[in-house]
Amino acid sequence: MPDTHALLSASAAKRWLNCPPSARLTENMPDTASEYAAEGTLAHALGELKVRKKFEIMKKSVYDKTLKELKADPLYSPEMDGYTDSYLDYVAAIMHSFKNKPYIAIEKRLDYSHIAPGGFGTGDCLIMCGGELHIIDFKYGKGVPVSAEDNPQLKLYALGAVREYELLYDIQNITLHIVQPRTDDGNSSWTITRAALDEWGESIKLVAQLAYDGKGDFKCGDHCRFCKAKSTCRARADFMLSEAGFSSLPPELLSDDELGKVLERARLFANWLSDVENYALNAILSGKTITGFRAVEGTSRRKITDIDGAFEVLKANGYDEAVLYERTPLGITDLEKLIGGKKKLTELIGGFIEKPQGKPTLVPADDKRPDYKQDINKIFGGNNND
Ligand code: SF4
Repeated sequence: MPDTHALLSASAAKRWLNCPPSARLTENMPDTASEYAAEGTLAHALGELKVRKKFEIMKKSVYDKTLKELKADPLYSPEMDGYTDSYLDYVAAIMHSFKNKPYIAIEKRLDYSHIAPGGFGTGDCLIMCGGELHIIDFKYGKGVPVSAEDNPQLKLYALGAVREYELLYDIQNITLHIVQPRTDDGNSSWTITRAALDEWGESIKLVAQLAYDGKGDFKCGDHCRFCKAKSTCRARADFMLSEAGFSSLPPELLSDDELGKVLERARLFANWLSDVENYALNAILSGKTITGFRAVEGTSRRKITDIDGAFEVLKANGYDEAVLYERTPLGITDLEKLIGGKKKLTELIGGFIEKPQGKPTLVPADDKRPDYKQDINKIFGGNNND
C-alpha cells in the first residue's frame, strides 16, 4: 500500500535517494491521485481480504460482507478477482514451501526510522520462518514493470521488518518479491543477506538525513517521473536544456558513444516535455497564462448517439442487417476482463494463444529484458539447406 504520510516514504525512496532535496521541495504539493491509483487501492483491499481469509481466522459472514462491499465499488471488475487470486496463489506457494508453519503478517506497518528519519511504510505481506524473511509487494499497475532486484522500497521495508522481529527471529536471508500480474513479466524475486541489507541501510543514512533536512544536490533522472515537481522543477529544466556534453571539435560526425548520449538525453527529454505540456494545459484551463500558448478544442470523431434507432432507419430504407453489422471477436485483453484474468483465460484457451517474437526495440542498457535474439533463418534469408 502507498506510504502516504512519511516524508521519506519507501515508495518514493528511489526519488529521494537520487535527489535528496526533492523530499522537502514537494512536501506540501498536492497529490493528484488518479483513477488508476484508486483502482490499485481497491485491488489491494481485495487481495488483502483474500489472504486474510486464507491464513487468518475470519468469520465467513465478515468475509462475505466485505467482499460484497468491495465488489460494489464502480472500479471493481471481474479481472480484478483473477489478478488478486494470482497474488493469493503466490503468497500461498511461499507459505507452503516451509516444513514448519511460518508466521505471516498482513498489511504490516514497518518503521525504518533508524535509517531514514520519520520513515515508515506498510508491507503488503511478510512471511517468516527460521532465519528466512519474505516480503511480498502486490503491484496492480500494468504500465511500468517493477523489479524486486535491489528495490529500495522493499529493502526499506526489510530493514523495518528485521528490526521489528529481531527478538523473535534470527533473520539471515531476506527475499523480496514483487507480484505484478498485469504485466508481461509478472513476478520477480531477489534475495539479499542480512549483512548486505544492514550494510546498505548504513550506506544511505547520510543521504536520508540530507533529504530530511532539505539539503543535498538536485539530480535529474528516471526518478523524476514520479516527482510532484516534475513539470516545474528548475533543476530538471536546466538539465534538459543544457548541452549534452558533446565535443565541438572535429571529427565532424558524431561517434557511437555520442549517439548513445543523444538517445539517453532524448528519452529523458520526451518524458519532461510531456510533463511540461500537461502542466501548461492544466494551468491554462484553470485560468493561468502560459506565455505564447492557448488551449483550443482538439479534433474529435463523429459518433452515433443511438445505434439501434439509427440502424432501424437504415433498415427501413432498404439496407440489409447483414451489411450493417460487422462480427468482430474480442481481443485477448477484453477476453481476460470477461473471463476474470490471465490465469483463468490461460487455463481455458492457453493452447490457442501464442506470443510471437516482438520487433527489436532500442532500450537503455540497464533494461531487465534479455538481448534480442535474431531469427537465424531471417539472417540467412529464409531456408538454408547447405
Ligand atoms: S523533478 Fe527531478 S530533479 Fe527536480 S526535484 Fe523532482 S526528482 Fe529532483
